Amino acid sequence: MIKAPRGTRDLLPGEIEKWHYVEKIAREVSEIYGYEEIRTPLFEHTELFQRGIGDTTDVVQKEMYTFEDRGGRSVTLRPEGTAAVVRAYLENHLNSGPQPVKVYYMGPMFRYDRPQAGRMRQFHQLGIEAFGSSDAALDAEVISYTYDFFYRLGLRGLRVEVNSVGCPQCRSRFGEALKSFMEKYEESLCPNCRERLSRNPLRVLDCKEQKCRELLAGAPSIYDYLCRKCSEHFEQVKSYLNLTDVPFEVSGQLVRGLDYYTQTVFEVSPPGDGQGSLAGGGRYSNLVEICGGPATPGIGVAIGLERVLLALQSQGVEFPSVKKERVFIATAGDDPAGKLNREAMRLLLELRRCDLPAEKDLLRRSLKSQMKQAGRIGAGYAVILGMDELENGTVVVRDMLKGEQSEISRDGLTEYLKAMVQIREEIFWKAAEN
Ligand SMILES: [Zn+2]
Ligand SMILES: [Zn+2]
Repeated sequence: MIKAPRGTRDLLPGEIEKWHYVEKIAREVSEIYGYEEIRTPLFEHTELFQRGIGDTTDVVQKEMYTFEDRGGRSVTLRPEGTAAVVRAYLENHLNSGPQPVKVYYMGPMFRYDRPQAGRMRQFHQLGIEAFGSSDAALDAEVISYTYDFFYRLGLRGLRVEVNSVGCPQCRSRFGEALKSFMEKYEESLCPNCRERLSRNPLRVLDCKEQKCRELLAGAPSIYDYLCRKCSEHFEQVKSYLNLTDVPFEVSGQLVRGLDYYTQTVFEVSPPGDGQGSLAGGGRYSNLVEICGGPATPGIGVAIGLERVLLALQSQGVEFPSVKKERVFIATAGDDPAGKLNREAMRLLLELRRCDLPAEKDLLRRSLKSQMKQAGRIGAGYAVILGMDELENGTVVVRDMLKGEQSEISRDGLTEYLKAMVQIREEIFWKAAEN
């Protein structure tokens, strides 16, 4: 038996409804915040990610699904959304239209990673990107969007950490200071950090090792190294955020894994320690240039949807059930000439044409097992066709919830069912709202 590849999984009926709900909220929030959907290809030229994410990052070095296509080109399944959106922004000349350009994307990403809870090789992200403005209000908007999305889903107690990593100038001055401080304790650092010191000292701030964390407590602060422009920008971001209901904290050690970030970076995590973040993002002032365009400010966030679903589950958030009411058409008794079956087929088409979800027996089951099947698919009403009724021009309608049956004229059946279904759906909606 061939199984699904490691790190991938099937989303089956029963679970997919949760995804639909999360996706619905994502589209609603995006619309409210003025972000329009963009869909880019699932694969791109490998070079785009090498340039856009950075050749030295773990993602590019170890985690990409890269292969040569039959034409000998190196292509890669997208490991994240931003680089492709930047490419699309430039390739479609969105940069020469009105700014800012605000888009969202939602879909699968691919990384050859060690699979664990909430981390898959094919995983799903919701993300937004906004180009063409360096206004701090936009930073606050992107953070507020992220928090609002989680809040509307029902997640509570989230940690929102915000920091500024400055522009390349501030960062290199801070990096030097951090490096010379940490070098005094080089012996005590973990092997990873020792390597980071020479390559990219800021990454030391990301280390989870206890020993390194203790040393970092006395390390220089980024805020002493921000230039005036970066420092003013960060003050503005914070003051705008204070106007929103986002409960954020300033975290000087938040640097995020990717090198392209400038100034604002942020992360949202579920309550409790040791859990991966749900979302991360920040401002990138040089990425559009790196991808071959004119210098253009940009900012974005990526949200891991598998983790969001796990968080919803662990917080016991209930998903509203707003399924449409269904009708099951059953036939009763012998039907040697297939008359009842043809009538059932006619009725099925009639109901569906009137937007009533309807199904009929397809396995020639007994009436008893047809009723069972009606229960299994959650039908609210069953229509039972028998030879006697066929001759009288009537049908029997069974209310599956109440267990009551009544005889209805065949001609008035569709109108009757439409009315009944509408009344019941209104009751469901009211119950879901309360
Ligand atoms: Zn600066
Ligand atoms: Zn370390």
